[in-house]
Amino acid sequence: MMNPYADLHCHSSCSDGSFTPIELIDHALSVGLKGLSITDHDTSAAYQEALPYAESKGFKLISGIEFSTLHKGESVHILGYGYKLNHRAILDLCAFHHNRRQARNSAILEKLTHAGMPVNEEELALESKEITGRPHIANVMIQKGYVDSVNEAFKKYIGEGKPCYVEGKGISTEESISAIKEAGGFAVIAHPHLIKSAALLKDLLKQDFDGIEVFYARFPKSQEERYLRIAQEKGWLITGGSDFHGTVKPTIPLGCSWVDESLFAPLYARFKENNS
Ligand code: AMP
Ligand code: FE
Ligand code: FE
Ligand code: ZN
Repeated sequence: MMNPYADLHCHSSCSDGSFTPIELIDHALSVGLKGLSITDHDTSAAYQEALPYAESKGFKLISGIEFSTLHKGESVHILGYGYKLNHRAILDLCAFHHNRRQARNSAILEKLTHAGMPVNEEELALESKEITGRPHIANVMIQKGYVDSVNEAFKKYIGEGKPCYVEGKGISTEESISAIKEAGGFAVIAHPHLIKSAALLKDLLKQDFDGIEVFYARFPKSQEERYLRIAQEKGWLITGGSDFHGTVKPTIPLGCSWVDESLFAPLYARFKENNS
C-alpha cells in the first residue's frame, strides 16, 4: 500500500528555496510527512541546524544534495542521498561549485549590465546565505524593476539560450557520481522528466547510478510509468519528491510527490550507517 511518507527533493534558503531549514521541517511535519531530504543545490549547509532540530522532533531527515553536472555539453542534475555529512569528497565538490558559481554569476551580471540592466555583486550578495544562483539574480532584477517575475527573468534573459545566460565551467556526471559514492551515498538521476534529449537520457542511463527519481513535482502518472520500468529493469532505487522551493515556485507544494515507507527505508538505513 502506497502512502505518503517522505519527500526526497526540496530546497532551503541555503540554496534557492525561500524556507529556512527549520521552517522546512516544521512545514513537513504540518503536512503529515514522516521523513525528508533537503536537497539544496551544491551544499549540505542546511543540515547543521536541520539535523539536531529533526532529531529533537523525532523526524526522519536524511542527507541529500542536488549537484549540477555537465553531461555531453548539457546541464544535468543529479541527487545524492544518505552520504556521510562533511565527508571530504562532498565538501571538495561543493567547493568546486562555489567557485564555479562565483565566476558564472559575475559573468551573468556583466551581461545584464551590458544589456542595460545593471546588477552589482553587493546587491546579489544580499539575496542569499550559502549558494547563489540565477533565482537570486532574478529576485534582484524584480526589485530593480527590470522584470515582474522570476519566470520572466528566465524566459527573457537568464534561462538557457537567452541573451544573458552563461553556462560557466562544469564538472562531469562521472566525477559527481564518484564523489557521492566515495562518501557512502546513493547517486540518483534527478527529474528525468525534464531531460528533453532522448540521446542524452539514453547515455545518462548507462552511467553508474543507484537510482532514478520516478515521482517528481506534479508530473502525471503516465510519465512516471516509464521511469518506474527503467528502475525495475536496472534494479535501481526508486525515489521521488516535490522539488519544493517555497515562494520561488509557488505552484509546487511540499509533499506533492513522495515515496512510501518501503522506498524510504533503504535510504534511511544508509544514512544512519554513515552518520552515527
Ligand atoms: P542555477 O542553479 O543558478 O543554474 O539556477 C537554476 C535554478 O533556477 C533551478 O534549479 C530552478 O530552481 C530555478 N529555475 C529555473 N527556471 C526557473 C523558472 N522559470 N522560474 C523559477 N525558477 C527557475
Ligand atoms: Fe532550484
Ligand atoms: Fe533540479
Ligand atoms: Zn531541485
